[in-house]
Amino acid sequence: MSRIIKGGRVIDPANGIDRVCDLEIDKGRIVRTGRGLSGERVVDANGLWVLPGLIDMHVHLREPGYEYKETIETGSRAAAAGGFTAVACMANTDPVNDNGSVTDFIVSQARRYAAVRIYPIGAMTEGLKGEQLAEIGEMKTRGVVALSDDGTTAMNAEVMRRGMEYARTFGLPVIAHCDDLNLSRKGVVHEGAASMRLGLPGIPDAAEACIVARDILLAELTGAALHVAHVSSRRSVELIRGAKERGVAVTAEVTPHHLTLTDAALLEYEYDTNLKVNPPLRTEADRQSLIQGLCDGTLDAVASDHAPHNIAEKEVEFEKAAFGMIGLETSLSLLLRLVHAGTLTPAQLVQVMAVAPSRILGVPGGTLGKGADADVALVDPERVFSVDAETLLSRSRNTPFGGWELKGKAVCTLHRGKTVYADREWKKQHKVSS
Ligand SMILES: [Zn+2]
Repeated sequence: MSRIIKGGRVIDPANGIDRVCDLEIDKGRIVRTGRGLSGERVVDANGLWVLPGLIDMHVHLREPGYEYKETIETGSRAAAAGGFTAVACMANTDPVNDNGSVTDFIVSQARRYAAVRIYPIGAMTEGLKGEQLAEIGEMKTRGVVALSDDGTTAMNAEVMRRGMEYARTFGLPVIAHCDDLNLSRKGVVHEGAASMRLGLPGIPDAAEACIVARDILLAELTGAALHVAHVSSRRSVELIRGAKERGVAVTAEVTPHHLTLTDAALLEYEYDTNLKVNPPLRTEADRQSLIQGLCDGTLDAVASDHAPHNIAEKEVEFEKAAFGMIGLETSLSLLLRLVHAGTLTPAQLVQVMAVAPSRILGVPGGTLGKGADADVALVDPERVFSVDAETLLSRSRNTPFGGWELKGKAVCTLHRGKTVYADREWKKQHKVSS
């Protein structure tokens, strides 16, 4: 039974399309775009944006091992509510995803319970310890799309080199969490004026930049595809820009929170542990440099680093609180602030939130082209709403954006043509059935 999404603004930069038209879906696939299309079921998309489903290449789904924080099922529902039709999940679960049987478990849980596509990322080293390489070939056969010791850094450059060589052999990108552990040590916030005033131990921007520089050199040495996770500082942006100019195979991502907040928020919100993230929120100059880097293509993608924690892990002294915030349900709305401000075009938003992640990971998506799976996000760019942490679909509540008024959100998400999320208010107006 074909379905027509009628009269929306179809924004599909992969096919050079940005115009008001209809989109026809049948048997879970995109049939065509055009004007005056008719079908058995019609969804009125007047005033909405029709985008390829968003892809978040950096989330923590916490399963196996930490199901009290999040599961593949709850995380996938949160993703769908945020307009995402695919997410890639990091390996720092318990047990760590460093061998084929854990990868198998994630893939089979996803098949049973997930509302969207789940792509496992394998650990680069056993137990994320930065010593022995993980079972890379075995994990690749079972479906990992990248390798990463995210959450920590392999401090031994020789290990990182070997990891990159293996990754290259298996055609996998290496996603690097760049943090010199000796420099960052007991730091909990960015080292600067705010850390001084708060009396909290700092993490200098050099802790990130040192490893970004090292990993760029190793990518050049090995020919591996390096992807720098959650870039937070101006110095890292400059290093990545320079590497790209030299033709190094490096890509990078930035989080919505680093694009939105600075360490000044720590003073404003007085030790709110939801602002404790790794890498830390940095200065306004860093934030401006991240925005510039995103606009000029130095930073290829936006990823949430969705990191659920329960209350007990956050409602403690700042220095003892866990690092991380959730992000799947606020990412798009935070990025839309840059669009509303005229900093980013809608097509650029689709590029960084759908097209680039699919290309970096080598997975389908990021397109509304004929024959593609119908992974689609309908977005109301004008809808004003207040973020209510209590009603988020994630199992955890650790967001600093509770109470923020944001403009623009996903109102309906389709995965393979099936409705996996529909905003309640929008549904009432449109009487949509799945
Ligand atoms: Zn990380």
